[in-house]
This record gives sequence, structure tokens and C-alpha cells, in this order.
Amino acid sequence: MSLAKKTLRELDPSGKKVFVRVDFNVPLKDGVVGDDTRIRAALTTLKHLLASGAAVIAASHLGRPKGQMVEELRMAPVAVRLQELLGADVPVKTVNCVRGNQVQKAAAALQSGELLLLENLRFDAGETENDDALAEELAGLADCFVQDAFGTCHRSHASTAGVPARCKPAVAGNLLEKEIRAFEQVMSQPEQPFVAVIGGAKVSDKILALKTLLEKVDCLMIGGGMAYTFLKAQGHAIGSSLCEEDRLDTAREVLAEAAARSVEMLLPTDHVVADAFFENANTQVVAGDLPSGWMGLDIGPETKAAYAAKLAEARTVVWNGPMGVFEMEPFSHGTSAVAKALAESHAVSVVGGGDSVAAVKKNGLQAHIGHISTGGGAFLELLEGKVLPGIAELDDALSD
Ligand code: ADP
Ligand code: MG
Repeated sequence: MSLAKKTLRELDPSGKKVFVRVDFNVPLKDGVVGDDTRIRAALTTLKHLLASGAAVIAASHLGRPKGQMVEELRMAPVAVRLQELLGADVPVKTVNCVRGNQVQKAAAALQSGELLLLENLRFDAGETENDDALAEELAGLADCFVQDAFGTCHRSHASTAGVPARCKPAVAGNLLEKEIRAFEQVMSQPEQPFVAVIGGAKVSDKILALKTLLEKVDCLMIGGGMAYTFLKAQGHAIGSSLCEEDRLDTAREVLAEAAARSVEMLLPTDHVVADAFFENANTQVVAGDLPSGWMGLDIGPETKAAYAAKLAEARTVVWNGPMGVFEMEPFSHGTSAVAKALAESHAVSVVGGGDSVAAVKKNGLQAHIGHISTGGGAFLELLEGKVLPGIAELDDALSD
């Protein structure tokens, strides 16, 4: 498997107007950008285009304004941060709307080496509806399209799917290319042992990913809330832990499929349990069955050690979903232990998922992990083996 789409290498942007779909959906606090990882992640593409003499029209969504103008979700703070990161040589211009006369004029006046950042795309209801008229209008602003919003590629929206369908050539930017290549590196011909660590709250969120991974991995390690549905399916008492009663059969199917494929399936053998879903709840460590009235909120020390040992032997690792309620300190240690084990291992590793990535960052370990995806939902859909609409609409690479 390879990225079967055209990339920046196949685009001559000189003197062209280039529409770049970026993912600038960053956290804002008091009108200032918090974590600017996503803006930085787009810089290689933007700088390449600007240095090559393109006039760049960049656009993103921000938050969930649901088709209406929301003052706090304007792109202005993003433009400020982007200007700082690009430096004074690149004028970052803005418009305070998504479509219409003002946008068309600003785009038409844009010069080579300049960047125009459109207003929050989701202020226009047509964005999430993949409205033809909006896609047509946005596509009309530019001569070509670059997709670099990996985190939004699983959405069939006007800017992610409608515009690349109309604005040709349409190619993958550097960030998108890096994400796909990192993913393909682990999923096609992974070096063994290949270990997947899957956690998070629910089996139902991850079931498709689990099924696809079972076809590839040597070992599947389960943690987080979803572990309890599996443990209950095996006949264990799980107290008042999170459990999806309607997924017990699904869990049994996964266990049977793992056995049939000789995939080693690791479930937690001990737990940090609490008497309430609360940071200052009473806690204890229990092995095996859980006492009634107690809920499992993290993997226990024995499980941590077993998972870390497996990760130390692995040559390839995919991780999605925390091992416990890592947002609360007493239940964050299992997730930290996995993050540390991964940072210390020599495996080719990919971590994806908003919460998993937040946990890696909280432990300051991002520099020690092979690839940290900028996608949450998009990463999960890749794991599920889906074709992402924002990638599907790009031009196919010429076959050699
Ligand atoms: P990601 O964003 O990395 O894909 P998910 O969104 O699937 O991860 O899962 C993260 C959520 O799962 C976190 O909010 C975390 O608190 C929750 N979670 C983890 N373990 C448990 C548990 N044992 N009980 C309840 N919730 C849990
Ligand atoms: Mg999440």
C-alpha cells in the first residue's frame, strides 16, 4: 500500500492561487490560541507553497458553531498565531466571512507570497452539509487545492470533499502525506511482534477498529472502560464499572476471533477501583473480580507491568485510547505507564486519538514516540480500514 494520491511534489504552485484546507481547530482560551500544535503542523505545507510563489487561501473550521456566526469562534486569534509563526515576511490577511463578495475580492487581490485566512468555515451551514453552491464558490477562489486537514478528512464536508472534487489539481499536503505514510508504515508489512493497545470508554466506539486490527496484530491489549465489557463477557464480576450490556456478544465475538487467529488478547488482571466517579473517591487496588459497589477506573500495578513488558518486546505498536480515567490523577497512572513504555521501546509506533495524544503530552513524551497523529476520529476511521472522503477526492497518483 502507498499513498495513491498526488502530493505537493506533483504540483507547480508558482503564480497560482492555492486553496489549502488546514486543520486549525485549536483550543482557544480568553481569545488566545492555547495548544498550537495543529497550526505548527500545517507550516511545512504553507511555507512550501508561499516560497514557491503561490498565493495561499487557507481555510479551517473551529469548534462547533453549527452554521451560525459565533463571535468567540472567529479565526482572528488563529490568524494572530499564524502570523507569529510565519514571520513578518508573509502577510497574513483575513476576511470575516466564508463566502460572498468580500471573500471573492480578497482572494482576487491576493498576491504571490501572501496568505488569506478565511473565516470559520462552519459559520456557514453549507460546510457540514457539503452544499454544492458553497463548494462551487470556494473552489472558484483558487486554481488548485491542497488537502492538509488530516483531522477532518473523515468528514464529507464542502471544504474537505466538495472543493477538491471541483478544484483541480487537488493534492495531499505534507502533513496529510506524513500521517498516511506513518499509518501505512505500521499497517502494511509491520515488523513483528505487532502490538495494538486499545482503550477508552466504549467498546461500541472501537469495535470496527478492533476487528480490523485482529487481522494484523500479534497481541491486542485492552484497557480503559471498554475492558469491563470484555471482562463481564468472560464471566467476571465488574462491580459498577462502565459496561455496555448490549455489546457483550460483540465482546465475545472479538475474543473468539482473537483465539481463532491466535492473537494474544490481554485484558486487565488487576484494577484501581473507586467507590464513585470522582477524583477524591475512596480507592483500592483489586485483582480478579471487582467487589460490588466499586468501579474500575484504571488498570492496576500488575497489569501495568505486564503491558509494559509486552510493549518492550514489540517492534510495531499502534495505540488508541487511554487505560483509565487519566483526566483524574489517581486514575492516570496506567495510561502514563503505557506512554512511558512506548517512549522507551524501539518499536515503530503510532499514537492517535484526542485523549491518548493528550495523555502522551501530559507526560511530556511526544518527542519519544514515532508518530503522533493530529487526527482523532480520522485516525480511528483509518484504523477501521475506511477510505476517508477528504482523501478520496484528491487526484490519483500516476501509476508507474
Ligand atoms: P481517544 O480520544 O484517545 O480516542 P476515547 O475518547 O476513546 O480516547 O476515550 C477516552 C475517555 O475514556 C476518557 O475520557 C477517559 O476518562 C475514559 N475512560 C478511560 N477509562 C475509563 C474507565 N475505566 N471508566 C470510565 N471511563 C474511562
Ligand atoms: Mg476522545
